[in-house]
Formats: sequence, C-alpha cells, structure tokens
Amino acid sequence: MSDAFIRTENLTFAYENDEGKEVPAVKGISLEIKEGEFVAMLGHNGSGKSTFAKLLNMILTPTSGKIYIDGRDITADDMTEDDMFDVRRKVGMVFQNPDNQIVATIVEEDVAFGPENLGIEPEKIRRRVDQALETVGMTEYAKHAPHKLSGGQKQRIAIAGIIAMRPRCIIFDESTAMLDPLGREELMSTIEKLNREEGITVIHITHYMNEAAKADRIVVFDDGQVFADGTPEEIFSYPEPLRAVGLDVPQTVELLFKLNKMGGNFNLKNISTEDCAAVIAEAYRKATESKN
Ligand code: ADP
Ligand code: MG
Repeated sequence: MSDAFIRTENLTFAYENDEGKEVPAVKGISLEIKEGEFVAMLGHNGSGKSTFAKLLNMILTPTSGKIYIDGRDITADDMTEDDMFDVRRKVGMVFQNPDNQIVATIVEEDVAFGPENLGIEPEKIRRRVDQALETVGMTEYAKHAPHKLSGGQKQRIAIAGIIAMRPRCIIFDESTAMLDPLGREELMSTIEKLNREEGITVIHITHYMNEAAKADRIVVFDDGQVFADGTPEEIFSYPEPLRAVGLDVPQTVELLFKLNKMGGNFNLKNISTEDCAAVIAEAYRKATESKN
C-alpha cells in the first residue's frame, strides 16, 4: 500500500484539435505526492503542467490511466457527482488571473461562496471565513470591495475562499505570475505558511526558480512527461539538462555549482543574489579567519 495522498498511474490526456484529431498533452505520468509535501512543478510552456493539475481536480477527465486521491480511485465508473465535489473540496485550485476568481462584491461574501456551495451551516461558515481571512492576512479587508484590491490581495482572497472549504491540498497554477514582486513575495509567504503551519499539501506550478527552490521537491515536466523529480538541490545540481528542456538555471546557482566543483560546500538553494552573495561572503570570512 502506498501512503500517497495523490497518486497517478500511467495518466494520459489528449485534447481534440479542430480537425477532431487527438493531441496528447499528458503522456503516461505516474507520480506520487505525500500528504504535507510542498511540490513545485517546473516546465516550459506547453509541457503539460496545467493539464496535469486539471486532471487532479477533475476539471478534465483522463483519456487513460488512473488517479487516486486520498486512496479513492477518482477515475472509477462508480464516481458520483457528490464524489466529484468531494474531490474538489479536498484538492482546491488557485489560478493565474486573480480577476477571474472573484465572484462577489464584498470580500467576506466572496470567501463564503465555496463553503456555501458545500451546504455548510451559516454559523460554521462565519467562523471559517474569519479564520481563512486571518490565515491569508486579509482580516481588515473583510468588508471591502474585492475589485479595488491589488492583484496580490485578490489572490489571497481567492486562497481564503479555497481554505474556507478546508482542503487537504491546494494547487497553485502560476498564481504568482501576474503579480508584482511584492505581491509575489506576499503570496509565497502565504503559501509557505499554509504548508508549514497548516500542513496543507501544496503543488506550486511556477516558472520562478526562486519559488521552486522553497519547495521540498521539484518535478520538472517536459513534453507531457516527468523529466526530473528530486529535491531543489538535486534538480539544480544538473543545470545542463534543465537548459536542454528550456528552463533557465539562475546564474547564482550556476556560480555556486561551479564553486562546489572547485571544492566549495554551498547550498544551491541560495539562489537570490542577496543569499548567494551572503553565503560566499560568509565562507570567505571563515576562510580568512582560520588563516589568522
Ligand atoms: P503548461 O501548463 O505546462 O504550459 P498545458 O497543460 O497548458 O501546458 O498544455 C499542454 C499541451 O496541451 C500544449 O501542447 C497545449 O497547446 C495543449 N493544450 C492546452 N490546453 C488546450 C486546449 N484547451 N485545447 C487544445 N490543446 C490544448
Ligand atoms: Mg499552464
């Protein structure tokens, strides 16, 4: 038995193009994600990340293969509509464009929308909404109009709406892509907090290497398949194959990588210029001290 929260077996999905021809987008992916894991997914445009995510959330139905969520085969013939809602409650999804995810004209009503649809009692909803807003740091905006908020704040409201449904896993599909650097940073700390403090399993699809570096594990997609799967250190230790699948390795990582080859002992997770400079300065300081 596997203790995976999400497990796919030889998962395949093909879109139908205008001429009715099948175009494969996910090609036989077998992957396990444990409860509580923080997984980043990387891969150039069109490598199948979003399609894979939508299969997990039952927005799309596989062409073939299996998906197990929390032990339940969600590709089984006996899946009812209730079972499908149960999957969507367990595995929430936050998309790229914050404007497309807001449904109400007042923040707290927007956050309440999901749990209301689940048929939860109003009193419970009240508590959940307050808690969810607290978690994403948006309590003071409860009575505000969502359309007046910044992109980053809107994304945090979208997340609060998902959290209020008490998901075990949240998939972020390039949710930081449309935000400015500050909004991105705020959202990343919210995502990290959900994982580290609330124990929510996180799948974070991103093309920002510094965000991927924060995960426990990185899965690299290429051409509808898993190209690489490992810790950030493992993945960043092989810059050449990453470049071959169209991903840029940050120059900081490359520098640390080369220094390690020359006998250094730097953690390749230090990919921001600041962190990279700091660890090199620290090593330099230690080396000079030991000489004196
Ligand atoms: P990613 O999220 O990694 O950019 P996608 O899962 O969106 O990749 O796309 C994978 C492949 O499926 C691409 O070749 C893309 O062109 C194709 N594709 C995605 N969405 C559709 C769609 N709605 N109809 C037809 N083809 C699609
Ligand atoms: Mg995508």
